[in-house]
Amino acid sequence: MSTRTQQGVSSPAPEKDLGPTYRPAAEKPTATVSKEVPFENVHILPQTPQLIALLTMIRDRNTERGDFIFYSNRIIRLLVEEGLNHLPVVAHSVTTPVGKDYAGVKFQGKICGVSIMRAGESMEQGLRDCCRSVRIGKILIQRNESTCQPHLFYEKLPTDIADRWVLLLDPMFATGGSAMMAIEVLKAKGVPEDRILFLNIIASPEGVGNFSKKFPKVRVVTSFIDQGLNEKNYIVPGLGDFGDRFYTL
Ligand code: URA
Repeated sequence: MSTRTQQGVSSPAPEKDLGPTYRPAAEKPTATVSKEVPFENVHILPQTPQLIALLTMIRDRNTERGDFIFYSNRIIRLLVEEGLNHLPVVAHSVTTPVGKDYAGVKFQGKICGVSIMRAGESMEQGLRDCCRSVRIGKILIQRNESTCQPHLFYEKLPTDIADRWVLLLDPMFATGGSAMMAIEVLKAKGVPEDRILFLNIIASPEGVGNFSKKFPKVRVVTSFIDQGLNEKNYIVPGLGDFGDRFYTL
């Protein structure tokens, strides 16, 4: 499959055999997997059969809302777990119930979530499931219909955010306009770029490219880089309007 992007460039979608390793390649189905991008700050989840099956569920226009929420939540959990792997740890040894020592690690530092409203709020529970009682700030950015520029309407962030690692949440990373404005807000509050992790489910190559050139130290953790954007700046093949499918449809 190849898709025409907004820039009119046609690029082939990568395909991969998916299935358990014990099955011969000829018995495995071939599926479309994430594109790769040449940016060191961008981390794409491993394209496992489970992840591709979950993405297939939420991309399907016939998936009803309950299933859309359930399968999105499973992907969000994977993104949060991978995001947390980017935080620093220190050595931490414990003694087990059988009296033996185990040399492990523990997380060092303070974190908070920041969701870009409204769709980003769908990722808050996944973060709370991993980080009990985590503080979560909110940013509302909307595009001005006449200028097409993003406009900041509202922000409410933890007062000590400059001392925290920030997990920025927004499931669809299309043009990157909102995400880039959110990063400017965080930087203005004193958060260094290299302490921000931007978690999203599906990204466009255009958004990732613009963003990574501007903020090369902000880590992006995504589950899939799609083919491109259509004339309305929807991601293609994408999944439609994430907020509508999660909250209102
Ligand atoms: N937001 C969405 O919900 N979907 C897109 O495809 C792009 C932005």
